Amino acid sequence: MKLVCPICGKTHDEPVQRCECGEPVEFERFTGEPYIGKSVWERFWDFWPVEPALEFSLGEGDTPLVKSGLGEELGVKLYLKNETVNPTWSFKDRGTFLAMSHALKAGYKTVGTVSTGNMAASVSAYASRFGLKAKILVSESASDEKLKAVSVYGGEVIRVHGDYGRLYFESLKLGERLGVYFMNSDNPFRIEGYKGIAFEIAEEISPDYVLIPTSSGGLFRGIAKGFIELHESGLIDDLPTLIAVQAEGCSPICRAFKEGKAKIERFENPKTIAKAIANPYPPSGNAVLRLMRDFGWSCVSVSDGEILEAQRKLAGEGLFVQPASATGIAALERLDLPRGAKVVSILTGSGLKTLKSAPQGGIKECPLEMLESCLR
Ligand SMILES: *Cc1c(COP(=O)(O)O)cnc(C)c1O
Repeated sequence: MKLVCPICGKTHDEPVQRCECGEPVEFERFTGEPYIGKSVWERFWDFWPVEPALEFSLGEGDTPLVKSGLGEELGVKLYLKNETVNPTWSFKDRGTFLAMSHALKAGYKTVGTVSTGNMAASVSAYASRFGLKAKILVSESASDEKLKAVSVYGGEVIRVHGDYGRLYFESLKLGERLGVYFMNSDNPFRIEGYKGIAFEIAEEISPDYVLIPTSSGGLFRGIAKGFIELHESGLIDDLPTLIAVQAEGCSPICRAFKEGKAKIERFENPKTIAKAIANPYPPSGNAVLRLMRDFGWSCVSVSDGEILEAQRKLAGEGLFVQPASATGIAALERLDLPRGAKVVSILTGSGLKTLKSAPQGGIKECPLEMLESCLR
């Protein structure tokens, strides 16, 4: 499959990571038929641009679509795509697995990424699984606590002092020179891996709306591409309306969308509790804007207060997600969706990764002698 630029339309035969025009590249859309098989990788075998290295799979994907009561008050049918059950507790594993399959096939011995949280842990884990070395570049501000969940898998964690925004582009450049395959947030194989979320949803229901927590824009592009390929293959009748959800304190894509701009601008002084979606200059921001314009999709931003409230509500349903992953539910209140609409919210990552900011439940102290009265 060829790579094409979603902005200028140029096609590339070489496995480049970005177009000369400065924008991201993606594989040409595939149309065809899924197979009857076991995992999402097998069922949609022809839809991937590289053969998934199934022997190294950790069981990523094929996550539950959970019916939720949280939409009742608003009169919508709400479903939660629970990506927190992936091997390293976020959807990043889907993209990491496919990008790692490519790196292995292409003969790389070392892979890398630029991240502080979920993607770092995912790449560190899968590199070990695939028998590859990992170089994980993190920002100065990354906490020791978070980095433990990365280094435990054996990846080499490198704390880089300097402009974190430049690190994305520097890593791609140096990676090419040094033979390190960087699978950053919107790497083309990563995007392909995320298509599986759309495939799995479409196997179960025909959603009207899909709410997608959005930072770099990689997840949004992946889910969009998945639904578009199903539509162009004649496997679904209608495309759902996709809604990118950002935190108010860091919403470069929503801001550009509201102002009707074709290009995002850097969001100065980002500040939000939803750290996993706080990229102030998303590398796929322009590509997401283009999709929203072409398909009539939209963008909503939500406050930290609303995010925490949504996180609490989800915990009340037995699902503990991190703040970034609660934004979809927070957005529900802001959107005036038609009654009876089928809505899917993507729960992107587990709350166990962000225990520090988690809402506290009540704890009762009880001496054993008083247990009877404590239980009443
Ligand atoms: C990475 C991530 C996102 C956003 O994905 P992008 O591809 O960067 O837009 C959302 N939620 C969680 C928990 C994440 O780890």
